[in-house]
Amino acid sequence: MKFELTTLDEYSDESLLAELRRVADSLQGQRLTRERFDSLGRVHSSTLHNRFGSWAAALDKAGISESVAPRFRVLNREAVLETLREFAAANPGKSATEKEIAERLGMHRGAITRRFGKWETILAEVGLDPVPLGRRYTDEECFENILTLWTHYGRQPNFGELKCPPSVVGPKAYIRRWGGWRAALTAFVKSINESPELQAQPVQSAPSPVFQKDTPQYAEPVPRSISLALRYRVLVRDKFRCVICGASPAKDGTVELHVDHIFPWSRGGQNTEENLRTLCFKCNLGKGDKVENAQPGSQEGLR
Ligand SMILES: [Zn+2]
Repeated sequence: MKFELTTLDEYSDESLLAELRRVADSLQGQRLTRERFDSLGRVHSSTLHNRFGSWAAALDKAGISESVAPRFRVLNREAVLETLREFAAANPGKSATEKEIAERLGMHRGAITRRFGKWETILAEVGLDPVPLGRRYTDEECFENILTLWTHYGRQPNFGELKCPPSVVGPKAYIRRWGGWRAALTAFVKSINESPELQAQPVQSAPSPVFQKDTPQYAEPVPRSISLALRYRVLVRDKFRCVICGASPAKDGTVELHVDHIFPWSRGGQNTEENLRTLCFKCNLGKGDKVENAQPGSQEGLR
């Protein structure tokens, strides 16, 4: 493709402004930026700049509104940061791309970093995460991951442990959501303490399907029905150990702990601390009819 210079017939103020209006009208809703003008106009934006004192002054003079052509008369670092802050406020949890902010500023995406340095640094100044977002995690998922780690290590997990298995939510998710690991842990504990389910809750309905306990498909019926807060409290109470054999993930990484209903949920056992206990996977599968026959809250026949 061959590029040809196009020119205006004459270069009076009025014809320059008319050209500005012509380009603005041709954009059909797209914003008029200097870069767009330079690719569509028959004069260069610098001509307008020189004639009218600035690009913004030319837009003013042509009567082009801010909504069509947003302008920052002095595009300084603060204007970029302000736009970023507005973006962050309007898009909670989302990281801003250079392109999005550049469009809002009415400039070319490269212009920001050319003038103000690395994009990561600019984002950091307003507290936005520079890393492109992968999956978004809900608070519940973040807390669930904390509980997994807490159970795995048998103690409060540290920040570095978010980076390796069994953690499935990385450190950035916590930083993005709570600003820091300490704050995330505080939010976790607060959610435990404020859980509405600290008292006995009647079981609404029996789960289905219920598999026979000796079949491979057997799973504790709807284990998620035990809230995170309750599971945490039971695990802490049982010191993150199987109450039958004493196995703990902290000592043996292959051990998986479950919070189990002593009197089965399928038979009306309740989601209460008294009816819940910590079991390793093996003991959970191996529990027999004796457990089925146990009374709610009773440990009889379990040891
Ligand atoms: Zn066990």
